[in-house]
Amino acid sequence: MGLDIETKCLHLENEVADDHHYGAISYPIYQSATYAHPEVGQSTGFDYSRLQNPTRQQLEKVVASLENGLDALAFSSGMAAIAAMMEMFKPGDHIITDADLYGGSIRLFDAISAKNGIAFTRIDWGKASIESLIRDNTKALYIETPTNPMMRVIDIAKVAALAKKHNLLLIVDNTFLSPYFQNPLDLGADIVVHSGTKFLGGHNDTIAGFLVTNRQDISDQLRYIIKTVGSGLAPFDSWLVLRGIKTLSVRMERAQENAMAIVKFLQAEPKVKNVYYPGIPGSGGYEICKRQARGFGSMLTFEVESAPLAKHILKYTKLIPFAESLGGVETLLTYPCTQTHADVPEEERIANGITDCVLRMSVGLESAEDLIADLKAAMDSYDGYKAQYI
Ligand SMILES: *Cc1c(COP(=O)(O)O)cnc(C)c1O
Repeated sequence: MGLDIETKCLHLENEVADDHHYGAISYPIYQSATYAHPEVGQSTGFDYSRLQNPTRQQLEKVVASLENGLDALAFSSGMAAIAAMMEMFKPGDHIITDADLYGGSIRLFDAISAKNGIAFTRIDWGKASIESLIRDNTKALYIETPTNPMMRVIDIAKVAALAKKHNLLLIVDNTFLSPYFQNPLDLGADIVVHSGTKFLGGHNDTIAGFLVTNRQDISDQLRYIIKTVGSGLAPFDSWLVLRGIKTLSVRMERAQENAMAIVKFLQAEPKVKNVYYPGIPGSGGYEICKRQARGFGSMLTFEVESAPLAKHILKYTKLIPFAESLGGVETLLTYPCTQTHADVPEEERIANGITDCVLRMSVGLESAEDLIADLKAAMDSYDGYKAQYI
């Protein structure tokens, strides 16, 4: 016990020199589907890679340790993780979620979980009385904080107290801050979700997902589900994420520094109407984020004065690609209304503030000056007349 998180990205607590790996510093990729048994009733600990694989197990131990969890399970994507978790619920169960969620999660809940008989109430968490929405059949509360893409902050400990009082599971998608900046289990959450594709993998080169828990009963249930539905992460992808995590601490710090410089630039830019970033002192989420996390991260959202300008920026930045996803070393600009949140009903999307003037930025590790110059050149080259024809 007691290693700092920077060290935990590289070493497990109580790590033993394991003579099976010939002293390999980089954990080996066990590209094997199956494992020989010494005799009937005996096992090496591994039987078949759908159930468990040594490389995946190593990754799961690292992620459990980063989140201070009892167990972590690695899936083939963030959505595979969330979809597997939904198998914990049965027809008739009810779940309350925030309206500002990753669009793919909303699509899963609306298009697949609902068909399987699970009911959802999706509300603006900051405005509603959550307690008044809890019914006899309510089983869980599902949130992200900061939210995607509007960067609202939810007080995890406060929601956890409500969940405990009503015997509900609290599920927190911690993708945006990563375990480097925030540990929801420590604040009372029961399950933490990650898209490992994002900060944990960190290099825009693989897709992965995690569920982490500190409850043995939930771990047992999820282990049963992962071996049955078969969506565990493959050995090579497990290795890529293990490799990504080695630099998580330096990446998170540097990307955050860059994000703060870009926020300052955007705030001073007359064509930008709003900047959403929890690290802005005086903004709604600042105090809560400061209390419950160790940083504000490197995701930011901004609203420009018109939709043609938003489209112009996406077309004319030279360094910053217009691409979905986040959390990698490369800075990316996303257009939530046609990308991540295209499947959210339009009325609901606009009520939530996700208009066609809103851009989301995942800040990476380039020089902040170069990123700012790229954004500025794209904005300055905007000509309202021409842009009508984009
Ligand atoms: C990307 C993302 C997901 C889905 O993860 P995939 O790895 O793309 O399947 C879930 N939640 C959040 C917050 C995300 O950003």
